[in-house]
Amino acid sequence: MTIRNRLTVLFTAGIAGLLLFFSLVIYWSLAKDREDEYYNLLHHTAITKANLLLDAKVTPSVLQLIYRNAENTLFQEEVAIYNTSFHLLYHDAVEIDKVKETPQMIHQIITDKEIRFYQGSLQVVGFLYRHKGQLYVITAAADDRQGYAKLNNLVYTLIITFFVVIILTYFASQFFALKALQPVADMVKKVEVITATNLDLRLNEGNGKDEITELAVTFNAMLNRLERSFDAQKEFVSNISHELRTPLTAMLTELQVTIEKERDNLFYKESIAHAISDGQKLVRLSNSLLDLAKANYDQTKISFRRVRLDEVLLDARSDVLHNHPSFKVNMVFEKDIDDEQQLTLMGNTYLLKVAMMNLIENGCKFSSGHECNVSISYNDTDSIIHVHDNGVGIAEADQQNIFNAFYRSESSQHLKGNGIGLSLSKKIIELHQGTINVHSVLGEGTTFTVKLPHQ
Ligand code: ADP
Repeated sequence: MTIRNRLTVLFTAGIAGLLLFFSLVIYWSLAKDREDEYYNLLHHTAITKANLLLDAKVTPSVLQLIYRNAENTLFQEEVAIYNTSFHLLYHDAVEIDKVKETPQMIHQIITDKEIRFYQGSLQVVGFLYRHKGQLYVITAAADDRQGYAKLNNLVYTLIITFFVVIILTYFASQFFALKALQPVADMVKKVEVITATNLDLRLNEGNGKDEITELAVTFNAMLNRLERSFDAQKEFVSNISHELRTPLTAMLTELQVTIEKERDNLFYKESIAHAISDGQKLVRLSNSLLDLAKANYDQTKISFRRVRLDEVLLDARSDVLHNHPSFKVNMVFEKDIDDEQQLTLMGNTYLLKVAMMNLIENGCKFSSGHECNVSISYNDTDSIIHVHDNGVGIAEADQQNIFNAFYRSESSQHLKGNGIGLSLSKKIIELHQGTINVHSVLGEGTTFTVKLPHQ
């Protein structure tokens, strides 16, 4: 069911419910009024007749004559007057006798002073009447045809009004729902033409402050993010192909030159050694790309467990030293560790080691002595790691870019690397809700500060 139809049905059903309730209340209130008024009318008519009989001494035969000659005798109030010993003093029409009074009824009237009840369609009132010290029991009964006709009229009017209002409400709500949802329909039309090739298209945000504007703004923000991520992906792919092409081309050229003519053994050896070195570069690159892909995963897909950061750092250090025996890595614990919780966090050991190895390798790689210092400390909320070197340093302009994938500063082009390390480390640290910052002075050295929250 479309939202438009759902809104229409809900609104119409709501109005129908209210109208029904309203109609029932009106009907019930008027029906009650009619009943009370008619009992009162019967009461008054009966008293008037009793006064005519007892006060004005109008004879019963005259009263009966008046009764018989009245229009629609059938629905006239029929009055009967008894004394308290159930002796009939007057009856409008004994031959019709709509209410069959019994001694019990008379007795009940005497005890209750007044009774009111229905006998079929007749309304009956019986009451005790005191006149000049004498008590009389009077009953009066009649059928309130007029009152019922009015009530029936009311019912018809209410039913017709009910259906007319419901039909009008249905069409009005269809119309208003259409109007209210028009901006959404426009939006859908616009969104349908947005594809991967024209991600620069945006929805009209208008200048309103309603939910539709909010939706358009949110959608546009999502398109911005998508466009940025598409651009980043494109750039990433073109960077990868460039990075892969360079060692591959070098390897092919080397091998082609070697095979052109007969060479001596030394030449072949050198050529194979170059090919191996290019191959190693490719392996390093693909490993880094794999790590990057892992770090880009959805956090929920990476297994996190309790990790001792000092252990991760010692592991990273020994792996770096194993890969580069000429490097020197000094580790310092700035504070005593009284509680192992101070350096424990929820994390992924493998990814954290990769991140730390990149920082340590860079520190050694970019300093003339191939030496760097790693210090560990903590505060209430975070474990803090400083990786410091007295190397070439990073120019201020480069500092903003070094965390972008494939970025390498001019000064580091001659050194081995592919520009993925720092962006990978940053991704991993952010994955652990941590932060990484760099402080560097060109020609003096660089310090990377990593903060990782305990939990
Ligand atoms: P790679 O080391 O493979 O070039 P990274 O992403 O690890 O790639 O580093 C990006 C760039 O940041 C490096 O090319 C270098 O210019 C700069 N850089 C990183 N660490 C240091 C450092 N400790 N000292 C000087 N420059 C650094």
